[in-house]
Amino acid sequence: MTGQRSLSIFGATGSIGLSTLDLVRQHRDQYRLVALTANGNAAELAKLAREFKPDVAVVADEGANGDLRDALDGTGIKTAAGADALVEAAQMGADWTMAAIVGCAGLPSTMAAIDAGKTVALANKEALVSAGDLMMAAVERSGATLLPVDSEHNAIFQCLAGGRIDQVRKITLTASGGPFRTFGLEQMRGVTPAQAVAHPNWDMGAKISVDSATMMNKGLELIEAHHLFPVGLDKLDIVVHPQSVIHSMVEYVDRSTLAQLGSPDMRIPIASTLAWPERLETNSEPLDLARISKLEFEAPDMVRFPALRLARAAAEQGGAAPAILNAANEIAVAAFLAGRIGFLDIARLVEETLTGYAPNAPHTLDHLFSIDAAAREYAKGLMEKLSYAA
Ligand code: NAD
Ligand code: MG
Repeated sequence: MTGQRSLSIFGATGSIGLSTLDLVRQHRDQYRLVALTANGNAAELAKLAREFKPDVAVVADEGANGDLRDALDGTGIKTAAGADALVEAAQMGADWTMAAIVGCAGLPSTMAAIDAGKTVALANKEALVSAGDLMMAAVERSGATLLPVDSEHNAIFQCLAGGRIDQVRKITLTASGGPFRTFGLEQMRGVTPAQAVAHPNWDMGAKISVDSATMMNKGLELIEAHHLFPVGLDKLDIVVHPQSVIHSMVEYVDRSTLAQLGSPDMRIPIASTLAWPERLETNSEPLDLARISKLEFEAPDMVRFPALRLARAAAEQGGAAPAILNAANEIAVAAFLAGRIGFLDIARLVEETLTGYAPNAPHTLDHLFSIDAAAREYAKGLMEKLSYAA
């Protein structure tokens, strides 16, 4: 069939990956799949591959290779495994690539997709936070189109359409405040991973759910916005909006403020990147403002949510600081989810890593990878040495 767009989905088995495939399922004749990838869940990836028939299915974990090959035997779908195979899949140059691997593990494939010069829908915020200037320079060099999937950045992108970035007075990212918005510090000290991943509005992967609970997610998003939308950090603001209906706002110099609204369903921002610059029909809940009846706003609390302070400071500092913030946070969140450290220890570990490890700014991608690895080791070392309340 002619006119079909070719798609690759990195992190196909995750929350964003499955939401993307759900849209593809609804508009099956418009798209053709090139690559689908997962970390180690061969059975789930094979199931998706049988349904969507990509050219290739890739698992990051080489130990899952045999299972994937067996599960797709006789289908004609190629299989591959390992970090290099992920990058090779990104180099196949689909018209549109969804970068939805969680964490810095997604950086090599996201960069390879950018280098291929086509359209990249970016959900993998950790890659941009960590590689920042290097990633934006690669976008410039390759001529790739980078479309933000994160609901806030997607909202800002839509509010900037038809506007001029030099006429922006302020960009406001909205934040739900997460499950502990009204908790005191003492209450937060004892929260469990199960409580932290139960987000009030959004259904997301475990890591971003914990990030939402600490509000590090909003900190990472501040850095993400700083790269995507070239306004000074002083023009980037955060407001807590518990209903998650307004996804972000852009105020222009004449004091007009544009906002994007929608039900809290990631299929809506994903659809806007999938069809861009067109629009795609979705089955998502329509926005019923009369039923929602009120929208609330409050200033974020920097004392109960120190991650916001740490992320802004890292953004101001620049250089290696955002990569270290991200790496330490990934280690801390994994340790919290494994029951090894307490909830409040997450920000503490990030802060102590930033204080203790301060290398020069990354000048190449390899240099960045070495900083990321060293920051992880440093954070792990701190966890061994210091007493973190499990
Ligand atoms: P998830 O945990 O549900 O899925 C992650 C995907 O990445 C899975 O397919 C998994 O197999 C794969 N993966 C995990 N570790 C990997 C590794 N080491 N190597 C290769 N693949 C690996 O996560 P998610 O919630 O879908 O989030 C994905 C990304 O999108 C994150 O960066 C997150 O911050 C961002 N994001 C998510 C949402 C959301 O609503 N879920 C919203 C905005 C942004
Ligand atoms: Mg977001």
